[in-house]
Amino acid sequence: MLYKSLNLQSPKVSFQEAVIRGLAPDKGLYFPEEIPTLDVEFINSIEKYSNAEIAFTVIKPFINNEIPDEELKKIVTDTLCFDFPLVEVGPNCYSLELFHGPTMAFKDVGARFMARCLAYFNKTNSNAKNTILVATSGDTGGAVASGFLNVSGVDVVILYPSGKVSDVQEKQLTTLGQNITALEVDGVFDDCQDMVKKAFLDTDFESLQLTSANSINVARWLPQMFYYFIAYKTLKTKGKEIYFSVPSGNFGNICSGLLAKKMGLPISGFIAATNSNDTVPRFMGDGNYAPKQSIATISNAMDVGNPSNFIRILELYQNNFAELSKDFSSVSFSDSETREAMKSIHKNFNYIVEPHGAVGFLGLQNKLKNNANAIGVFLETAHPVKFLETVEPTLNYKVKIPQSIQEILSKEKKSIKIKSYEQLKSYLLSR
Ligand SMILES: *Cc1c(COP(=O)(O)O)cnc(C)c1O
Repeated sequence: MLYKSLNLQSPKVSFQEAVIRGLAPDKGLYFPEEIPTLDVEFINSIEKYSNAEIAFTVIKPFINNEIPDEELKKIVTDTLCFDFPLVEVGPNCYSLELFHGPTMAFKDVGARFMARCLAYFNKTNSNAKNTILVATSGDTGGAVASGFLNVSGVDVVILYPSGKVSDVQEKQLTTLGQNITALEVDGVFDDCQDMVKKAFLDTDFESLQLTSANSINVARWLPQMFYYFIAYKTLKTKGKEIYFSVPSGNFGNICSGLLAKKMGLPISGFIAATNSNDTVPRFMGDGNYAPKQSIATISNAMDVGNPSNFIRILELYQNNFAELSKDFSSVSFSDSETREAMKSIHKNFNYIVEPHGAVGFLGLQNKLKNNANAIGVFLETAHPVKFLETVEPTLNYKVKIPQSIQEILSKEKKSIKIKSYEQLKSYLLSR
């Protein structure tokens, strides 16, 4: 299997090259040249397999033989070394908790998988050296830092907006040391993102082998399929229609769910739940794709005005709007609706959700209302402790801080302050 660029102006590449490049030379996203289908027998007997066995079967066709089976098994086993509980929070309504990984955000899976693939590629090429350059509004940075910590041949440089990430998030970025460096940017997330984009186009960095680690990278995007297969394993026996509602920002996670369906996972439908950044809900309403400047909300990991992975969803459906609409819908919710949902889930079901999960919960309501034969699953993409500043005052409730977070909060922050692209450049070239 090769990967094509969605701009169609660059040659097809191997998995390895797609991972190392991140983006194709023509600036297009990489996309598998064909979608593999899974053996029906595998889906029908999925409960017989462990999570790692499922992940191996699902990802294998995308890797070809570029990573030997034994290595790939180790990589997926290591990637999925924590639980993915499905918690029933109300009638026919489940929370798929994706926050039991090291940084308590669902991005841990993609980051761990990508790091281990790069480590394998570097092992077979001992003078390889990559610099991962990534901008974060919060969760990506921590997951990438943790996933790549001590991976040989890889240096990680994370840009984050000073004063705009939560305490927990900042400590997760700035306290690891080793091969991880945090650059604290005097500006907002968009400034960080702009600097990173500029660096990828800057020919002065050719010798550094700059690589991205956001969800445009196929090695971070593809393994998110695992969640849907793992949840299906548990829900299959209920014999009902299954719907997933995915709190969406850059639309990488939900796109991998749609990919799982194309490969043969019997899911009845997907709902992309967004906050006020409603570019995709508007598109599904009028067929007109009109991105906007992003708006700040309480579910800030989804404050994206022009979702980078939506083009992959369109490609998956060959731009056929009618076909896409059968499987996919999208709804937007305001911050006040999100807060109300957090309160009602707490009051009615005694379950704590953070704002992203609450948006996902809201996405299910219409689907479940008139359909007794439907099961709805919302993805809870982060632990409530990561969004304490919203969760505690909204619910008037003190969240118990997990041990691992307490430890990190007591560590000393180390960051390098920068203000401009020139400062980023001189830092990168001086290393
Ligand atoms: C990144 C993130 C999202 C959005 O995921 P996408 O794949 O970008 O749509 C949702 N919730 C949380 C907590 C996140 O960190």
